[in-house]
Amino acid sequence: MSQHLDEDLFFMQKAVEQALLAKKIGEVPIGAVIVKDGEIIAAAHNLRESEKRAVAHAELLAIDEACRKLGAWRLEGAVLYVTLEPCAMCAGASVLSRVERVVYGAPDPKGGCAGTLMNLLQDERFNHQCEVTDGVMKEECGMLLTEFFRELRQKKKQKKETSS
Ligand SMILES: [Zn+2]
Repeated sequence: MSQHLDEDLFFMQKAVEQALLAKKIGEVPIGAVIVKDGEIIAAAHNLRESEKRAVAHAELLAIDEACRKLGAWRLEGAVLYVTLEPCAMCAGASVLSRVERVVYGAPDPKGGCAGTLMNLLQDERFNHQCEVTDGVMKEECGMLLTEFFRELRQKKKQKKETSS
C-alpha cells in the first residue's frame, strides 16, 4: 500500500474537479494539479479545442503555471496529479521540469507514455526520472472519458438523424 494513498486520493479528486470544468466547456475531460509542500500551486484542464492549440493539455498548462508561480523552471519536490496517463509531450515536460512524482488515474492505451506505450518518465538515459504512481481513482477518471465520448457519439448521431 502506498504511503501517499490518502493525499493522493485528496489531490486526484482536485484533478477530477478540473476535468469536470473541461467537460463543462465541451473539452475532453482531463484535469491536472501540481502540489508542492502539501499545497496546490497550479491547477489546469484540457483547453485544446477552446484555444485551438495542440499543446494545451492539462499537464502542460499546469507545469507552465507552476513555473510562473515559483519563478523557476525546476519543479523539484513537486507532484503532478493528472486524471489520464500523460502523453509523450506531457511526460517529456514532466522530466524536463524535474517533477519529482507523477500520479495518474486512468491508463491511456492510445497515447500513454508513463508505462503503457512506453515509459518516458523513468528512462534512465534521461538525466531525471520521476517516480510514478498509477491507477489512483482509475475508475472515476476513466469513466469521465468514457461517458464524454459516449455522449459525443450520441449527439453526433442525433444530429445526423435530424438532418436526414
Ligand atoms: Zn499531454
